[in-house]
Amino acid sequence: MIYLDNNASTKVDPEVRATVAEALELFGNPSSIHAEGRRARRAVEEAREEVARLVGARPEEVFFTSGGTEGNAMAIFGAAAAGASRKIVRTGAEHPSVRESFGRAAREFGLEEVVVDPEPSGALDPRAFSAALEGGARLASAMLANNEYGGVFPVEQVAAAAREAGALVHTDAVQAAGRIPVDAVRLGVDLLSLSAHKMHGPKGVGALYVRRGVSLEPRTPGGGQERRMRAGTENTAGIVGFGVAARLARERLAADAQAVARLRDRLERSILEGSGGARVVGAGAPRLPNTSAILFEGISGDALAIRLDLEGIAVSVGSACSSGTPEPSPALLALGLDRGDARRVVRLSLSRWTTQEEVDEASRRIAAAVLAMRETAAAPALA
Ligand code: PLP
Repeated sequence: MIYLDNNASTKVDPEVRATVAEALELFGNPSSIHAEGRRARRAVEEAREEVARLVGARPEEVFFTSGGTEGNAMAIFGAAAAGASRKIVRTGAEHPSVRESFGRAAREFGLEEVVVDPEPSGALDPRAFSAALEGGARLASAMLANNEYGGVFPVEQVAAAAREAGALVHTDAVQAAGRIPVDAVRLGVDLLSLSAHKMHGPKGVGALYVRRGVSLEPRTPGGGQERRMRAGTENTAGIVGFGVAARLARERLAADAQAVARLRDRLERSILEGSGGARVVGAGAPRLPNTSAILFEGISGDALAIRLDLEGIAVSVGSACSSGTPEPSPALLALGLDRGDARRVVRLSLSRWTTQEEVDEASRRIAAAVLAMRETAAAPALA
């Protein structure tokens, strides 16, 4: 299997796997006062330090969650619950967990939701975002890196404008962390979401950075864990694995990003040369080094992804299949793609484990599949 779907999830690093297995022995409740509890607590707090270090935060600003989805919901519902302005602003390229939390928070708290789409190039114009903030806002959210085409947004500029408008600023850094440098302080954000399984950590664990001094309405009533921000006994082994994944991501970031970008560019070049009638979506914007969304003319992305799966290549499509009807991705539509084109997009996403041999083999097979599918589509139907 050639795995080119690392934006969906990544392979767990062997060092992470070994540490998680050991951490399963830490069975004490981290809130218990006895020695077994204290051992688990120490492990959780060491992981918190590592996660904080990855994003330039203080450990006390990191709150563990069950992943990116929960961190986004905590940030959005927590920030939207109170404030002077009734406006909340987000980009049109956000992950469904942000998009749907915004929609529901707007209904629940009676707020006006304003959406700023990226340019057709894939870039987000910070002036357009600032214009949407005029007159003040309660909350602004712009993802640091997009999951579908990898666009990297100017969060630092968005945050400066949002602060001026009196808004709390959230960024979804789930796809960015471990792939490009992330510094919460430099970005100037109040809230930043992370997920371990996008950086070779375990699934079901993530974190929300909450800048010191920012007060959020907690959403989970219960035992008061995570300093009352997120009740529930801590996922000790998952958190420990996240800590190791965060340390490895920090240590390897520069080398990984360079190597992965070189392979991604090689993959794009040979696919475009080999398949004709194809283009890279969002190539005009700053992009993650590992992500490539390719639009193949005359091809259904779903059909191509299924065919590639049969050939041992794992990719994703820019549409979410709900109740059997492939719906084009709102993020791709936000870039100005029509519904037909949005369905022709296939996402390839690499990791530090992707090799040049895999890239060369995948590009050959993808180009051959695309040419064969176009030929079949052009052939006259048999009577
Ligand atoms: N935000 C972005 C940009 C994502 O790509 C994802 C996962 O696909 C999430 C949030 C959700 O993260 P999790 O799977 O940890 O809930």
